[in-house]
Amino acid sequence: MLKEFWNDFVNLIFPENCLTCNQILSKTEQQLCVHCQYELPETNDFKDKNNELYQKLAVYFPLEFAASYLVFTKLGKTQKILHALKYHNNPEIGEIIGQWYGDILYSNGFENRFDLIVPVPLHPKKLKIRGYNQSAAFGKGLAKGLKIEQEENGLTRQKHTDTQTKKTKIERFQNVSDIFEVADKSIIKGKRILLVDDVITTGATIGECLKVLHQCSPVSLSVVTIATPQ
Ligand SMILES: [Zn+2]
Repeated sequence: MLKEFWNDFVNLIFPENCLTCNQILSKTEQQLCVHCQYELPETNDFKDKNNELYQKLAVYFPLEFAASYLVFTKLGKTQKILHALKYHNNPEIGEIIGQWYGDILYSNGFENRFDLIVPVPLHPKKLKIRGYNQSAAFGKGLAKGLKIEQEENGLTRQKHTDTQTKKTKIERFQNVSDIFEVADKSIIKGKRILLVDDVITTGATIGECLKVLHQCSPVSLSVVTIATPQ
């Protein structure tokens, strides 16, 4: 009761604003206003098993399912959300939208389709700077929505990769090669794993993760990302 009163009081003096449109949020809204929530540019690609992401990744590994929640466009809502998630010390927004997407999947036939969520790991150096893994923040919410667990440290990352933006596609593939490891194969083996990443670009990082997860066969592999470029 006292806590509620205190929160109301703090809200009155320091109202929170919507992360994407800057409107003052109501008491029941968190981070995004309801209007922006409904205006999110969803890909809805989970409705098409043969969607673009699935085709991109399934050439390398037998995949059960692949989907991205949002479309990424420059200066759009998705960019603002990802920016807050990655650079503004805001893991909560990842968890919130993760749960929204988990709820959507759960109520659209994806109940009991996966056993365990495993996020793409950050390099320990980056994790130390950021303080959290943005993909795991999203995965935490997604796990709640899908009513399953997340194993945050299911995969570990070995060596530091330099910033990838200035490299060619082939160099990028080589750069991430063999840096992921499964921490404990017995946790992965025999499970339906849902691998989670933030934004899919070349697919090289996800491909490497799928490769090491695949070594724990029998295992079923699926992928969900927060966003995909338009
Ligand atoms: Zn808004």
